[in-house]
Formats: sequence, structure tokens, C-alpha cells
Amino acid sequence: MSEGELGQRWQQLIDGTTCPFCHPRPDSNEYWLLVQQLSAGTLYLDRNQTYRGKSLLIFDRRHVTGLEKLSTDEFLEFTSDLRVAAHAVASFCAPDLMNYASLGNVIPHLHWHIIPRYGNDPRWGKPIYTTSEGEVPETLLRAQEYEQLTDSLRNALP
Ligand SMILES: [Zn+2]
Repeated sequence: MSEGELGQRWQQLIDGTTCPFCHPRPDSNEYWLLVQQLSAGTLYLDRNQTYRGKSLLIFDRRHVTGLEKLSTDEFLEFTSDLRVAAHAVASFCAPDLMNYASLGNVIPHLHWHIIPRYGNDPRWGKPIYTTSEGEVPETLLRAQEYEQLTDSLRNALP
């Protein structure tokens, strides 16, 4: 892909034209499984479960690239969703620590990664993100295990 094509691709992601996080959004795909729609966002379980319970909270209302673009009401509702989701994840995973990341470097549509951390996880003491791909292998589960995890998360939500 040329630099111009990359620039155009990025521009279409930024302006929402080709944004995969905008509606209509599939309930499940190769990256996530639906847990539940909350107030301003929808919670998904990340298919990569290297960090057990790792989830994704995507802002639903419209295409925005970051918190700075939200109204006060949207911000309060979305961060309230984040707290509710984090509480649910922590309550059934019992992690040693919780990490929260909102980056948007790949998909610039506002979302949070909710990342339970464990003393024995492969990046304990460091951010989960690495500079070389494949440094921490993905952990994929069987369909039944995903179902159990999404059920547990749903049951832990208010
Ligand atoms: Zn979007």
C-alpha cells in the first residue's frame, strides 16, 4: 500500500466512513463477542484471553475519536458504563490489578480496553502492549469457554 493509500485509509477511519466500530456492528466477529449493551456503550469480551476477562467497551452513540469530543452528559454516561463493566469483570476474574486503555491507534473510534492483570501474567509489571508483534501469543478459547465467560460477565452486570 502506498503512503497516499495509507493516508486515505486512515482518513476514512478517522472521519468514520469505514469505521468498523460504528453501527451496524456485528455481535461477534474474530475479535470480540457481545456481552451486553450498557447506557452509552456496548461491552464485548475480547477473543484474545491472554489476560482472562479482557474486554472492550465501545462508545455507541456516534462516531467520535476520543473523550475530548464527548458532551459532559455523554462523558458521564460512558465513564459510568466503564465503572460498571470494570466492576463486573473484576468481580468474576479476581485480578491482582485492573488496567484501562483508550488508545485508538488502530481503530480511532472511542473505546476502552478493560484489562485484568495477574501476578503471573506474561507482562506483569509492564503495559500489555509490545512493540514487536507475536511477543505475547494470543490465547484463544473454545466456543464453550467463551460462552461461560460472557455468561459470567452478563451475570455480574447490574
Ligand atoms: Zn466509528
